[in-house]
Amino acid sequence: MTDRQKKCSFCDKSRAEIGELIEGPGVNICDECLELCSSALADKAQGNQKELITSLNVPKPHEIKAFLDEYVVGHEYTKKVLAVAVHNHYKRLKQNIHFAEDDEFGNVEMEKSNILLIGSTGSGKTLLARTLARMLDVPFAIADATTLTEAGYVGEDVENILLTLFRNANNDISRTEMGIIYIDEIDKISRKTENVSITRDVSGEGVQQALLKIVEGTMANVPPGGGRKHPQQNYIKINTEHILFICGGAFVGLEDIVSRRIGGKTLGFGKQDSVAVDVENKNWGNHVAPEDLIRYGLIPELVGRLPIVTALADLTEKDLVRIMTDPRNCMVRQYQKLLAMEGISLSFTNSALRELAKIALKRKTGARGLKAIVEKIMLDVMFDAPTDAKGGTIRVTKSMVHEQRAFAEEKKRRIA
Ligand code: ADP
Repeated sequence: MTDRQKKCSFCDKSRAEIGELIEGPGVNICDECLELCSSALADKAQGNQKELITSLNVPKPHEIKAFLDEYVVGHEYTKKVLAVAVHNHYKRLKQNIHFAEDDEFGNVEMEKSNILLIGSTGSGKTLLARTLARMLDVPFAIADATTLTEAGYVGEDVENILLTLFRNANNDISRTEMGIIYIDEIDKISRKTENVSITRDVSGEGVQQALLKIVEGTMANVPPGGGRKHPQQNYIKINTEHILFICGGAFVGLEDIVSRRIGGKTLGFGKQDSVAVDVENKNWGNHVAPEDLIRYGLIPELVGRLPIVTALADLTEKDLVRIMTDPRNCMVRQYQKLLAMEGISLSFTNSALRELAKIALKRKTGARGLKAIVEKIMLDVMFDAPTDAKGGTIRVTKSMVHEQRAFAEEKKRRIA
């Protein structure tokens, strides 16, 4: 068969009648049929998404807050802010279904409002984002901003964040496009104003620019196998317009920037001024303004795309005790369940819990270090209990915590 005699297996037109013909083993397709197929697939995907959005049950802010309360201790104001923001975000997805174009609000475009969480390490930023995704039953992905680089540099392309979400959505594009992405350590990619003129700011501004594109909403080309993009590759197309981005960071030093700005403004207002009092009480987090974040090193465009800013106060000793005992799947209950399988009832005295919290506070790793500390204390108990205790009770006391600590300290000294 000559080249001109070859036909499209779908429309039967010959090569002479069509533009491009893509040849496969025993089957050919022309450019027109290919276009038709891909628009049919796009229509189907859009239909799927519309169906998903229609069936999405958007919980009320009160319900979201109550769900967060079950898993996250403290941060009352932040939970309220998040409940409203997330409720509005998912309602926004329904706007085109709810209002016809000629309705009163039909042509009012509701913009996406991504979120910035400021709080020290281990205070529960990731936990909040993850719990929100769980409540809404949408896919969730976590990315670390410090591993991202601008295209062309060694490191991860920003688009790979979307690949993780896509995989967590069981490779379902429609579900991916309604997911939540948590980007941790966003403060670590702030631009370093001192050296911008000397070297290209690989880790800072370039990454922020790349991130900005997907955060504000774009049709992203994602390499299916991850890694770097290259021109001959097929891409997964993911629209990020409805993906909710929650960024988090500790923003060490931001306190000074906020205090300096507010301090200057409130001078002369006297101690009664509530802002001045907040700053004095270290509740500066709720007064962070866009200009503070820009001064810290975030680019103004990215700050503009993170309009909801909320700060998490450092966890107190009381919070840490509650973290061990209150949440639905808290540590204490998990250990109790394990030992209950041996017929043993486990309890902790209040002073033991407070002691554990004190140790965690000293480490300055928030609730993150708590688990490791409790695990160490529980090691002997868990080791001996199944053999020794045939039923009965175990009570973890402050002196047991002290003994374990002394033993660990001694071991550390010997190794040193
Ligand atoms: P961050 O993202 O702020 O560094 P994480 O959310 O990763 O902190 O917290 C680490 C772990 O500590 C969580 O998985 C959770 O077990 C516990 N934790 C932290 N903050 C809280 C909190 N406010 N309430 C309950 N558990 C918490």
